[in-house]
Amino acid sequence: ADATARFAARHPRSATRLREAQRAMPGGNTRSVLFYPPFPVVMARGDGCRLWDVDGHGYLDALGEFTAGLYGHSNPIIRGAIEAALRHGLSLSAHNEHEPLLALEVQRRFPSMELLRFTNSGTEANLLALAAAWVHTGRRRIMVFDGAYHGGVLSFTAAAMPLNVPHEFVRAPYNDLAAARALALGHADGLAAILVEPMQGSGGCIPGEPDFLHGLRALADDCGALLVFDEVMTSRLAFGGRQGALGITPDLTTLGKYFGGGLSFGAFGGRGDVMERFDPRRPDALAHAGTFNNNVLSMAAGYAGLARVLTADAISGLNLRGELLRERLNGLFARRGVALHCSGMGSLMNLHAVAGPVRTRADLQGEDARAKTLLFFELLERGVYIAHRGLMALSLPWGDSEVDELVSAVDAAVARHEAVL
Ligand code: PLP
Repeated sequence: ADATARFAARHPRSATRLREAQRAMPGGNTRSVLFYPPFPVVMARGDGCRLWDVDGHGYLDALGEFTAGLYGHSNPIIRGAIEAALRHGLSLSAHNEHEPLLALEVQRRFPSMELLRFTNSGTEANLLALAAAWVHTGRRRIMVFDGAYHGGVLSFTAAAMPLNVPHEFVRAPYNDLAAARALALGHADGLAAILVEPMQGSGGCIPGEPDFLHGLRALADDCGALLVFDEVMTSRLAFGGRQGALGITPDLTTLGKYFGGGLSFGAFGGRGDVMERFDPRRPDALAHAGTFNNNVLSMAAGYAGLARVLTADAISGLNLRGELLRERLNGLFARRGVALHCSGMGSLMNLHAVAGPVRTRADLQGEDARAKTLLFFELLERGVYIAHRGLMALSLPWGDSEVDELVSAVDAAVARHEAVL
């Protein structure tokens, strides 16, 4: 209560802005994930890995736009590409020269995407991948996993009442191959696809175990379903995503987030024989429309980022930094003897108010939600911005000093409340 009272006193302008927003939007909100009581902070600007809110407080940005902000704010190369594209007009009512550049660059990293198409979001990419799987298999059922998040209308986390599209979902526990196999074989005549995040992101940064993910490949083959890897978050974990690192070839892959250089983006693609159905020259072509699917800014920014910024070295450096940060945080929690844990892989991680390790959602049962909220507000007060639910995603501008800064802030926050954590 003290922490939230201090927060409210320090953020009068955020409160005012949100009251204005409430006149036109329910709860003043248009992205459910951004809400937390008493009211969420309103940001004014960002630069590199720094953010400033409308009340003038500065923050280390440890959230990185829920992973879409991998390049940090105002990367000069991406900004240059956007400005150059802007000079030639925004909406050209036609194909543009940026699309093939980006598509080929995506394919170079994800060779399993023999053919691919662009969308406006990761959500749409998943919806389209599932539609492609139905058409290809002639089946309707989709296997998904407890704790999965594939978009606002494909959500299986416990967080809020989901507003899901009415598919026939078969829900299996994550990281439990035997259970998935038993469920899938029970529906062997009906599974169109197995849709899986190689690490559950919104579900709490819970890595899929290699045996589990390899086992799903075999399972999909055994029951004639398509294996769909949702790499919207995990694509950043290696040059070719988690599929590349594990040597697994999914039938379809979905991408999003930072691939558009920080602008709206999604892509789905995979096996040529599945994706060819979208070829508009075919008499039986599947229609996939979307006014902004090929919008020049996302295409240009996405290509500039991949081609000129996000090299293989940049990816491994960023993920190594994340590994080191997570080790330091977990070392700190152990030293102080508090029930806190940082899960995840590479540059993606989540703070949890449990002792850990976190292998499945069952390990999060009994999580102390108040302790987690306390940590969130204490970090905000110390100038560190993470997601209310504990998600953190590093961005390229992070250096060693930012890692030190975050560890010091967490240490100070924990020290203040050691008795209750
Ligand atoms: N899939 C995963 C794994 C995600 O984490 C997200 C977003 O957080 C999505 C899909 C949805 O992407 P978008 O928010 O671009 O619709």
